[in-house]
Amino acid sequence: MKDATIALHHGFKSDPTTRAVAVPIYQNVAFEFDNAQHGADLFNLDVPGNIYTRIMNPTNDVLEQRMAALEGGIAGLAVAAGSAAIHYAIQTLTQAGDNVVSTPQLYGGTYTLFAHLLPSFGVEVRFARDDSPEAIAELIDDKTKLVYCESIGNPAGNIVDIEGLAQVAHARNVPLMVDNTVATPILCKPIQFGADIVVHSVTKYVGGHGNSLGGVIVDSGNFPWAEHPQKFASLNTPEPAYHGVVYTEKFGPAAFIARARTVPLRNTGAALAPMNAFLLLQGLETLALRMERHTDNAIKVAQFLKEHPLVAWVSYAGLPDHPHHELARKYMQGKPSAILSFGLKGGYAAGVRFYDALQIFKRLVNIGDAKSLACHPASTTHRQMNEEEQAKAGVKPEMIRLSVGIEAIEDLLEDLDQALRQA
Ligand SMILES: *Cc1c(COP(=O)(O)O)cnc(C)c1O
Repeated sequence: MKDATIALHHGFKSDPTTRAVAVPIYQNVAFEFDNAQHGADLFNLDVPGNIYTRIMNPTNDVLEQRMAALEGGIAGLAVAAGSAAIHYAIQTLTQAGDNVVSTPQLYGGTYTLFAHLLPSFGVEVRFARDDSPEAIAELIDDKTKLVYCESIGNPAGNIVDIEGLAQVAHARNVPLMVDNTVATPILCKPIQFGADIVVHSVTKYVGGHGNSLGGVIVDSGNFPWAEHPQKFASLNTPEPAYHGVVYTEKFGPAAFIARARTVPLRNTGAALAPMNAFLLLQGLETLALRMERHTDNAIKVAQFLKEHPLVAWVSYAGLPDHPHHELARKYMQGKPSAILSFGLKGGYAAGVRFYDALQIFKRLVNIGDAKSLACHPASTTHRQMNEEEQAKAGVKPEMIRLSVGIEAIEDLLEDLDQALRQA
């Protein structure tokens, strides 16, 4: 099936008992065992089935299967937020003494996790000087457990050479983990280009309506964990946190996602609420359609701003003169989502006046809503960084980031024009 069909049908046939066609909300914590042996088999992970909603839930399962199918992976894990997905995916592979090598242009919350929280638990994150494969390759050593990037950096809008990064990671027997939130699997499929793990904040475009937090991890099933038993000891030696299971023996290619579910999620509990899984599935049904409109509107907004006499610069990889335009063509058919940034002539002060004058664009920190949104990263998402760190993350003081929605383009351009004039 094609993406638009997968998003509507994959992972669910009408409910077997009620024949309900919409995915039911299993607002339920625990699931009954047939008998003691059945309970034991479930706990041993010998038979499929549900135990407790902290580790699995039938509504969440449909979201997991659909996202995995769209990304071309073998399995998914849904959790309470994109941030939890990123943390759990990293925790599945690392322990104190290990390191992660990352591109520098990251979502603000991910940067804080990498720069401060993970190091406080002994996991070092090495930020490359830029997002090139060479810069990443230089930092990989024997203690590196994964290479990390965002397919489209938020908010910098840089397009990462996924294939190049996968090559340098695989040359050192290290997996590539890609945050594909901004691109969505409709525009970019990192696994096709060599990514091993894909993480998502489904809070954004997948949900698409700004009403529910959620995160998903997708496992490609391609990384040969068992060939490197010492490097990936957590997947190849008996797991003390789950009665001695050896994940590569029990789950084969799905070892990674099985450990993510049964160790980090099971023990720390950022489970996705079934109601949110339902709302996120509602969003997913129209994702392909919305991304078409989002990207159509984004290129029109970018062209409008570029030609506007009051605008100093526009950064959107969909524009032919953007340095990453070729990468955008290779990885996302020239449609690099609908997040763009620009700076006004008149610097910071004009930027603030513009921001305050917006009527349709909402002033907030979110992206991927059907509604158009605007944000000033330097004072919000990236304010915990100093100016040097901001510059490395691709954030300028006067920069305004737009998340272009699916409204009528005429109304969006009129709103931008009147705000620019007031600024
Ligand atoms: C929002 C976002 C996150 C964090 O997701 P939450 O669902 O808000 O926890 C991670 N990565 C990117 C690229 C994001 O935009």
